[in-house]
Amino acid sequence: MRRIFGAICAVVLLLSGCARAESAASRQIFAMDTVMSLQVWGGDGEKALDQAQAAVYALEQQWSATRAGSVVDRLNRQEALTEQEQAVVERITALSERTGGAFNPRLHSLTELWGFPTQQYYVPTAEEIAQAMEQQDWDFGAAMKGYTGQVLADLMKELGVDRAILNLGGNVQTMGSKPDGAPWQVGIQDPEGDGYLAVVQVEGTTSVVTSGSYQRYFEQDGVVYHHILDPETGAPAKSGLRSVTIICRDGLLADCLSTALFVLGVEKGTELWRNSDDFEAVFLTEDGKILATQGVTLTGCSYETISR
Ligand code: ADP
Ligand code: MG
Repeated sequence: MRRIFGAICAVVLLLSGCARAESAASRQIFAMDTVMSLQVWGGDGEKALDQAQAAVYALEQQWSATRAGSVVDRLNRQEALTEQEQAVVERITALSERTGGAFNPRLHSLTELWGFPTQQYYVPTAEEIAQAMEQQDWDFGAAMKGYTGQVLADLMKELGVDRAILNLGGNVQTMGSKPDGAPWQVGIQDPEGDGYLAVVQVEGTTSVVTSGSYQRYFEQDGVVYHHILDPETGAPAKSGLRSVTIICRDGLLADCLSTALFVLGVEKGTELWRNSDDFEAVFLTEDGKILATQGVTLTGCSYETISR
């Protein structure tokens, strides 16, 4: 439920940031366990939104962790994938390697053991964690909303849409600029409330993806357990962060990296950024500091810049 409120909050910010919103076609749908809010300008807006909605539902089915016949199901049964599916799986596997395994798409049994998909929460023993990690069954949940944003941006372009802001439950995909020509403004959520802490300015086809410990969690005996797991321990990552936001041109990359940098923390995450040239990051630490890599333009907050 927190996740739904969070998504709605982000939508409000986006709407208030849009000039001449009357010419937009917009729609809200519920998919991938979150509220999605799509706004497009140019082309036949309603037709584009119909196709976007159909594409989201199709991707949800195709990449589901539980549906019979999904990519996950076929991988687990060692059945054939299409060429396009195989290419996505290979990319995700390569990204997992690039993050030193901090992003691990084979943790489905482990997330089930902790009860995150079903909300039947449970704190497992070390032995149960070790057994679940041995299963190595696939779960693309941490990459799919970002990938979906990227697929939708390509589809919208084909359909003549020249500007769009697609909020896929905290994963925001932009195209073009605001109708008045100004950059899009995307809020980074305040983990302690329904507002936002900082605003990222972006232009063109860009993904802004946030992973946060506040998005899904439970509390037991005074301890908070959140949903981003450290593949080295099998337990919620303790990296001193509340959230990581990735800004880049590639939605799949953004989503994999938001999860990975959350696991890695500021120091190792910064090292990964220094060795890369294809993304920017904003870290929100547990003690309330905001740090942004030097290519990010943030407004509405004070923050430290991380230089190359
Ligand atoms: P969300 O999808 O909730 O917006 P993320 O993209 O960070 O946020 O994905 C987190 C989800 O991915 C978890 O709920 C879990 O299913 C799965 N997951 C948890 N830890 C990892 C990890 N280290 N690598 C890959 N997937 C993970
Ligand atoms: Mg992710």
